[in-house]
Amino acid sequence: ECKTRGAAHHLVFTDCLQARLQKEIRVENGLHRALNNNEFELHYQPVINMQDGSLLGVEALIRWCLPDGTIVMPNDFIQEATRVGLTAELGEWVVEAACQQLRCWLDQGFTLSMSVNISPHHLRYIGFDQMILDTVNKYQIPPSLLILELTEEVFVDSGVASFDTLNALRNAGIKIAIDDFGTGYSSLRYLKTLPIDRIKIDRCFVSEDNLEALSDPLITQAIIYLCQGLGLDLVAEGVESEEQANCLQQQGCMTGQGFLYARPMTADALTEWMGSRATALVSGQP
Ligand code: C2E
Ligand code: MG
Ligand code: MG
Ligand code: MG
Repeated sequence: ECKTRGAAHHLVFTDCLQARLQKEIRVENGLHRALNNNEFELHYQPVINMQDGSLLGVEALIRWCLPDGTIVMPNDFIQEATRVGLTAELGEWVVEAACQQLRCWLDQGFTLSMSVNISPHHLRYIGFDQMILDTVNKYQIPPSLLILELTEEVFVDSGVASFDTLNALRNAGIKIAIDDFGTGYSSLRYLKTLPIDRIKIDRCFVSEDNLEALSDPLITQAIIYLCQGLGLDLVAEGVESEEQANCLQQQGCMTGQGFLYARPMTADALTEWMGSRATALVSGQP
C-alpha cells in the first residue's frame, strides 16, 4: 500500500516507488521467460445452449503457470504484457494455441466454436487480420467457428483502421463479438453500424454476487430486445444459478456461459467433459 505519513513522507514514497519498479521488472522478465518456456496455458469454458444444455463452443482463457505451481490469472498480467511490448507476441500465441486445439477437437469429431479474447491494442497492429487469416488457414478452421471477442473500448475510440480490419475479418467469415457489453461507453446509436455479430452481456447484469449489484432483469431485457432488433447473436456471461438461466431464457436469451454449466478447464478436462456427455447421450442417461 502506498500511503504517505508525516515525517516519513519522502522515505515511504521512495520505498513504494522502488518496490513498484522492482515488481514491474520481475513481471517483465517473467513474461519474456514465460513465452520462451511455454508457461502459458489456455483453459476453455463451455458456451451452452441453455434450452437443451448442449455445447455450442468454448471461450479460450489464458493462464500463466509459474514454475513453482502458482497460477496467475489474466487480469494480473495482460496489461503488463502490453506495457512491456509483448501484446502481439502473446496475442499471437493465444490465437495459434486456440486454433491448434480447435483443429484437434474437430478431428475428434467435436463440432464447436472457439472464442478468443483480443487485446484492443493488438487489433491496431498492422497485419493483425492477415495473422488471423493465416492461422485459420494453417489449421483449416472453418472461419465461422472462430469468434474474436473485443471490449467496447475498441468500438469507441479506435477509428477507421480498426473497422477496416474487422470488416476484412468478417468478410472472410470470422465472427466478431463485443465482450462485457454494457460496462463501456459505446453509444446505442452506433451499435447498428458496428462490424459485429454477437454481444456478450456482462456478468454484472446477470449474477448477483458482485458488490456493484447491477444485476437487473430490466437491463438484461433491454439488451436482449436491442440485440434481437439488430439481428445480433447474444450470449449471457456469468450464469451461476438456475434462476438466472430461467430468467434469461424467458427474456429471450438462449445462450449462456457460467459456473452453473462449467468452469474454465484444461483442454484435456474439456475433452473428457465432452466425451462423458456424449456417452451419457448415447446411453440415455441425463
Ligand atoms: P472475459 O473475456 O469477460 O472472460 C470471462 C471471465 O469471467 C473469465 O475470467 C471467466 O473465468 C469468468 N467467469 C466465467 N463464468 C463465470 C461465472 O459464472 N461467475 C464468475 N464470477 N466468473 C465467471 P478470467 O479467466 O479470469 O479472465 C478475465 C479476463 O481476462 C477476461 O474476461 C478477458 O478480458 C481477459 N482474458 C482472458 N484470456 C485472455 C487472452 O487470451 N487474451 C486477452 N487479451 N485477454 C484475455
Ligand atoms: Mg471474453
Ligand atoms: Mg466478458
Ligand atoms: Mg470480463
